[in-house]
Amino acid sequence: MIKAIRGRLLWYVADPATEGAAARRYLEDGLLVVENGIVAAVGEAADLLPGLPAGTPVADHRPHIVAPGFIDAHIHYPQTQVVASFGATLLDWLERYTFVEEQLFADPAHAEAGARFFLDELLRNGTTTACVYGTVHPGSAEALFAESERRGTRMAAGKVMMDRGAPPGLVDTAESGYRDTKALIERWHGRGRQIYAISPRFALTSTEAQLEAAGQLAREHPDCLVQTHISENLREIEAVAALYPADRDYASVYDRFGLLGPRSLMGHCLHLTEEEFALFHARDAVAVFCPTSNTFLGSGLFDWGRMRDPRHPVRVAVATDIGGGTSYSMLATMGEAYKVLHLQGQTLTPDSAFHAMTLGNAVALGLDRLVGSFAPGHECDAVVLDAGATPATARRLERVRTIEEELFLLTTMGDDRAVRATYVMGELVHSA
Ligand SMILES: [Zn+2]
Repeated sequence: MIKAIRGRLLWYVADPATEGAAARRYLEDGLLVVENGIVAAVGEAADLLPGLPAGTPVADHRPHIVAPGFIDAHIHYPQTQVVASFGATLLDWLERYTFVEEQLFADPAHAEAGARFFLDELLRNGTTTACVYGTVHPGSAEALFAESERRGTRMAAGKVMMDRGAPPGLVDTAESGYRDTKALIERWHGRGRQIYAISPRFALTSTEAQLEAAGQLAREHPDCLVQTHISENLREIEAVAALYPADRDYASVYDRFGLLGPRSLMGHCLHLTEEEFALFHARDAVAVFCPTSNTFLGSGLFDWGRMRDPRHPVRVAVATDIGGGTSYSMLATMGEAYKVLHLQGQTLTPDSAFHAMTLGNAVALGLDRLVGSFAPGHECDAVVLDAGATPATARRLERVRTIEEELFLLTTMGDDRAVRATYVMGELVHSA
């Protein structure tokens, strides 16, 4: 089945931080030719249209931008009713709000309804791939994967492993966490577009025996992702030091159990020491920047400049972190990222922002041969963006002269309202 998508095509082939504007591909009147969900060809519409078989359907999105579907590297699907909980920092926020809500996911029907809402909302925001935390209940991951498979989306997800520091209804054991995770990996990892992420919540809610079990899973399934939290909040860091007195620092705890590697997505990384930066670099682990969560919970400012220190560069991914984060929109998230960096005397160019939420995150998740780009052979997940979707942005758009200015308007003022349509494997799955 051949179809085509026409519009102002935008994608990246390299990192603009090192390659500048040469990293960007932009076609004012471009055409994506899609065959069985895969990009078969991309180029100028004038060049490709004459070669299409007669009757090929063409979805014409001019004058809007068509970009690869956004990728969210860290999000909690059981927290859609925790977002916007007032007045707490990480540890009391978990206790007062999050752990209460997550207990409801013991009920499979609640998990299934939550997964449906969650994927609807991601697609409404143009996010077509995410790395997702479930709850401790295996059924939470099962529900998310089943719903993702039904929609044909590429999702990474995992049941959270946590065997202490939480209410009785929200803990597994080292043994059951291992067994349930193993069963989910065997059932879902690599099935269609689904990917398993081994998910010990963080060092405060896992015993050493459980971190050992998680490390064993990572060794037994080296192509699975690993996701966890680290160095988000100063009280959390003190508590980790008290629980793990023999370890030099927080990163060393995870490293001791084999959980810090090139497939590890480490949420937050706000207060890393020099030694931890060096360890992240040595292990090629990924630091995940969640700007709306970090400001909302008062956790701290992510120092992307330091991640680029040539002595120990650290890979970076970007994410919403719903429900510590406050927006499902990767556009709004990158707008907040710009402000967080600006506060530290750093900048985030529009190209770097768009690269980060497409190809950059695909690289971080090890999926860059599959998603995050319109290069032929990639799965055709796409988002159609209208930079003038609201009265305020339409007015500002009148003064926009360059594609860079338009991209910056999209991340500074844009959100779900800027998303005109979303495609998964070439199929329209959301239309405003
Ligand atoms: Zn998180």
